[in-house]
Amino acid sequence: MQAGESWDHSKYKFHGLSLSGIRTAIAMPELSLSFDVAQGYPFLLNLKQFFLTHGHLDHAAGVPYIISQKAMNSQEPGKFYMPSSLVEPLDQIMKIWEKIEDHQYKYDFIGVKADDEIPLNPQCYIKVFPTTHRIESFGYTVFEIHKKLKTEYLGLHQDEIINLRRQGLEVNEIQHLPVVSFTGDTQIEFLDSRDWVRKSKILFMEATYLDGRKSIEQARQWGHTHLDEILPRLKEIECEKIVLIHTSSRYSDKEALRILNERIPQEFKEKIVFFPGR
Ligand SMILES: [Zn+2]
Ligand SMILES: [Zn+2]
Repeated sequence: MQAGESWDHSKYKFHGLSLSGIRTAIAMPELSLSFDVAQGYPFLLNLKQFFLTHGHLDHAAGVPYIISQKAMNSQEPGKFYMPSSLVEPLDQIMKIWEKIEDHQYKYDFIGVKADDEIPLNPQCYIKVFPTTHRIESFGYTVFEIHKKLKTEYLGLHQDEIINLRRQGLEVNEIQHLPVVSFTGDTQIEFLDSRDWVRKSKILFMEATYLDGRKSIEQARQWGHTHLDEILPRLKEIECEKIVLIHTSSRYSDKEALRILNERIPQEFKEKIVFFPGR
């Protein structure tokens, strides 16, 4: 297995890997966070915050290992955000492991609900959006806070703006920009759950099935999204990049790329990125 793939777009850098039923963990090292933790890979161990989409093992099994590694290296305990229904069972797992190891761990499990806002630093925060899976699940969006000159003052000379400020007028407005959205496993309904998801600069979304080997119905039955549901909606997704993750292990990375190349209309090819899982 590779240590993970790196990909970046404008100033945003990502590192991780994602394959349906096997592993999903995608980190943004500069924000010291990861979306899901797979089995707890080395590139995750020094991060401070972890945003779990749901409790399936391919997304969350690494939690105890990350906690133990942080303890061993005398790091601050990590913060793990997760659906509220996952807090208690994961806590029990940790209690059992404490018994096995005869050692007490420090960790922070925080339950989230839709629309919660979690500060990351003074310029950005995470906002939670609902997704639709077989168990409680959420997606996460990184928002940036930008100060921008109010539209009515655009085009004014610097001196005029200074004058307005002297008169006590507020010339700036605050903008909240959705920059990175991430879904774990979900049916396509998440696209309509919150407007900001479709407007994010970068959207990581699951596309478990890519061709006729599985039908839309079968994908939905397991709480997943089929490429056939994504293609008709590409026009209305305003993101600069849509990163497809969590493809089924029945496709090799090479085959997945070939299918996507064949099936994605030319006008959207630039917009779509395939994130490999091996
Ligand atoms: Zn999964
Ligand atoms: Zn799942």
